[in-house]
Amino acid sequence: MKYRSTRDYNSLPHTVSAAQAIKEGLAPDGGLYIPCEIPALTADDMTALAAMSYEDRAAYILGKFLDDYDREALVSDCHAAYSKEKFTEVSGTNYLSGGAAPLYNLDDSTYVLELWHGPTSAFKDMALQIMPRLLSRALKITDEVRTAHILVATSGDTGKAALEGYSDVDGVKITVFYPVDGVSRMQKLQMTTTLGGNVYVAAVDGNFDDAQNGVKAIFGDVSLAEKANENGFFFSSANSINWGRLAPQIVYYVSAYLDLVNSGKIASGDPVNVCVPTGNFGNIFAAYIAREMGIPIAKLICASNSNNVLTDFINTGVYDRTREFHKTISPSMDILISSNLERLLSVCGGAELTGELMAELKSAGKYIAPDALMAKIREHFAGYCMSEDETRATIRDIFAAHHYLIDTHTAVGMGSVKKYRAETGDNTPVILASTASPYKFAADVCGALGLETGEDIEEILNTLSENTDTDIPKPLIAPLTLPVRFTETIAPAGMPDLVFRV
Ligand SMILES: *Cc1c(COP(=O)(O)O)cnc(C)c1O
Repeated sequence: MKYRSTRDYNSLPHTVSAAQAIKEGLAPDGGLYIPCEIPALTADDMTALAAMSYEDRAAYILGKFLDDYDREALVSDCHAAYSKEKFTEVSGTNYLSGGAAPLYNLDDSTYVLELWHGPTSAFKDMALQIMPRLLSRALKITDEVRTAHILVATSGDTGKAALEGYSDVDGVKITVFYPVDGVSRMQKLQMTTTLGGNVYVAAVDGNFDDAQNGVKAIFGDVSLAEKANENGFFFSSANSINWGRLAPQIVYYVSAYLDLVNSGKIASGDPVNVCVPTGNFGNIFAAYIAREMGIPIAKLICASNSNNVLTDFINTGVYDRTREFHKTISPSMDILISSNLERLLSVCGGAELTGELMAELKSAGKYIAPDALMAKIREHFAGYCMSEDETRATIRDIFAAHHYLIDTHTAVGMGSVKKYRAETGDNTPVILASTASPYKFAADVCGALGLETGEDIEEILNTLSENTDTDIPKPLIAPLTLPVRFTETIAPAGMPDLVFRV
């Protein structure tokens, strides 16, 4: 299978293999890689997949997209990535399935797809546990002899998920930079206690932009690239626009549909709607690909917090990032440029138009999508947004009605489902992507429930646990007890030196 750029400015279209797309990350024209055609799931595929574990479903579906990868290698990588050691097993009568992405039966028509049972308690693990292995294979397939040195600047969550994913993977090493006072105590502990022989973590004396600019400067410096080459490595990123991060996310939507059929909640072929709390548009785009493969998803409900640039886009056709940025209680969705939307534009509107719209976004901070393109998008997508108060009220209401605890991001999705149903009267069963453990955002979840807490992180976790009769996830307890391995703080100017010494 070949991959093309979302833009493809060149008169001669540039296509690459899956391994090349994953190794390169970004296309040479600045676009993102997408498959030239989307593979279909046949009735035989669905029958075979229905009987499989999550790990085997993942290998089977990834195999359709990564056809230059060895099938056995994919099976062994998926088993290692989604094992019980990495993803905690759930238990309870409300679960319709187990494995790495269990489905929770909330009520007659709402099924919560819990994507946060991995090593960092957030959904980024679903991609970042497998992506480093896919990169490691890509290096071998493309006869790359150098080590890939992954550089990450993080404001918190991505750094830890990437560290866990790349730890002790062949052919790669990873360095994470975080702003010295810009992450929570839990996030800092999570990162600085990471195990593994190929990981390094440093605090940067500055804010997130300083760390990010430092990493960008290293990527953009030709002399540093040459020096790295002489030393047997090259710099690479763990960015969410890499196809190797997106493809694994398709799997859990297919898997959830099969779980609903297997449990008798729907008949094979029945439609479902899918709701995804959205930031960069990666997760919901993966659901759209599952739909294009043949999963009968009727509507994709795109849920936003008060940074509602996507809600406005879907409703008006105008994408306008020139607006006030809000810091919210669902910080992983505080995004004004949703990079992966470009993939949807390109699949629905073509490469030439996408190149034009992206150029407008860069120069003017906004673009207006043509009516024909918007008609196609609205056929499949609906957009809703939630205020901070509505989000808190949703956490409270769902806990009161169902004794089920959700985090702030999932609450944005849950509230959007309610708004969608009220506005459209469409009661098709909904699969809601749940993107983080409530304990990852424990202080705000406590606040929503009206529980008083102090500043101490352990105390906050315990308060939530005692008052809701739920358990603190193991991955969030470990950092409180493991020794801190990384204590170095450097000036931004010291970053290039550091990457050659670790
Ligand atoms: C990253 C993230 C999101 C947003 O996902 P996108 O793929 O960027 O749309 C939502 N919730 C949580 C908890 C996240 O970490």
